[in-house]
Amino acid sequence: MQTQETNEIYLIDTHAHLDMIEKKTPEIIVKEAENENVKYIINVGSSVEGSLKSVEFAKKFKSVFATVGVHPHYADKFTRKEEESLDKLIKNNKKIVAVGEAGFDFYQNTVSKKDQEKTFISHIELAIKHGIPIAIHDREAHKETINVLKNYTGLKNFKAVMHCFSGDADFALKCIGIGLYISFTGVITFKNAKMTKEAAKIIPLEKIFIETDAPFLAPQPYRGHENYPAYVKYIAREIAQIKKISVEEVANITSQNAINFFNLL
Ligand SMILES: [Zn+2]
Ligand SMILES: [Zn+2]
Repeated sequence: MQTQETNEIYLIDTHAHLDMIEKKTPEIIVKEAENENVKYIINVGSSVEGSLKSVEFAKKFKSVFATVGVHPHYADKFTRKEEESLDKLIKNNKKIVAVGEAGFDFYQNTVSKKDQEKTFISHIELAIKHGIPIAIHDREAHKETINVLKNYTGLKNFKAVMHCFSGDADFALKCIGIGLYISFTGVITFKNAKMTKEAAKIIPLEKIFIETDAPFLAPQPYRGHENYPAYVKYIAREIAQIKKISVEEVANITSQNAINFFNLL
């Protein structure tokens, strides 16, 4: 007979911003997620201030882990001082499981490509130094993102995930080819997200994480509303449908992927 432990089905929201949610308190958000079998939430930092909040949430809630990093929107403000703050935070907090989100964003972003690249590289090197993974933000910057990342392929300690994957099947294969993992948001549930669905179909489940990116990108049937980690189940359901497998399998494999990758527990 199997133990209860191995029968337990749960989900992990690998990317959320609890500090940006406006309509619910962190206590309620975490409770509601637990009620939907979300075992862990990884709260992602987008600025030094946001990273500090991320660490606070991880200290306060057993099910929450933190990442620390500066989003490409603020890449021009990332100096030596900011880098040292993040470095110190990682050193002193065991629940910081990754660096990020960092990367490139060329959608309505006034920060120069040069500044974005410099900040992105600092983040990658910080992650490698501490032996933790990096969560990558790539919006309308596939080529630039790959160009930077391919320099690190195969390096010991280099582990990276493309958060909020927004490319097509070919790009997904290219990402996997250089050792990346791929994380899907609620976008995959949108009717017009054909390209994203194709990508999910073609790549092995062993390379996939699921995330809400709450409060953004709420899945169907909540599209357009504030998003919460409790909704991560809709993403699992959609992937199950696309791959013609059970939701349990999606839950089991993606959760195990995230546990191994972020070294949770
Ligand atoms: Zn992002
Ligand atoms: Zn994010």
